[in-house]
Amino acid sequence: MARYRDAVCRLCRREGMKLFLKGDRCFKPSCAIEKRGTQPPGQHGALARRKVLAGYGQQLREKQKVKRMYFVLEKQFRNYFEKAVRQKGVTGENLLILLERRLDNAVYRAGFATSRRQARQLVSHGHILVNGRKVDIPSFQVKVGDVISVKEKSLKNPHIVTAWETASGRGRPQWLMVNGDQMSVTVTALPRREDIDANINEQLIVELYSK
Ligand code: SF4
Repeated sequence: MARYRDAVCRLCRREGMKLFLKGDRCFKPSCAIEKRGTQPPGQHGALARRKVLAGYGQQLREKQKVKRMYFVLEKQFRNYFEKAVRQKGVTGENLLILLERRLDNAVYRAGFATSRRQARQLVSHGHILVNGRKVDIPSFQVKVGDVISVKEKSLKNPHIVTAWETASGRGRPQWLMVNGDQMSVTVTALPRREDIDANINEQLIVELYSK
């Protein structure tokens, strides 16, 4: 599968906001946005003025931002949009909910990983179970009642342990409930729009793809 291989902090600087792609570092002063502000990346970034975008440019940037937040490539993102159109309800919200229901996102939101990127690795390397069975497909859609947990052999994985211990500081969404003192969560409801980053204007994405 194709992957984005450039420095991920450039993506945040390109979008002019934190996309939380690097785990704990995103919450520290060493975050590139904290250190350098929102100036665009590149040799002349400091000199370049951020353009005020409108119309197509604004719609395109919003789509790129959401794609980058969820680490989804163009073709897959487009497929999510087409699926969202076919569903009942508001297309933009449907799109975000489909993205939010990806297993790699749920693993990140549950607190097994400090970033979606790390969560994707955990899933594709076979550390994650859904209802007791290994699922190594990051795009797997979780549903109400699913129990997400860590394979027994991976329970002492230091990356997972650290992420789990610090998860409450990052916050868990209401649709995921921790199962007592076990390292597992249950999907108690489907994500709602208010559970998803408010800093997204999904209507711009709908307008872009509806041209
Ligand atoms: Fe973005 Fe995180 Fe890098 Fe900060 S540390 S620029 S939030 S990826």
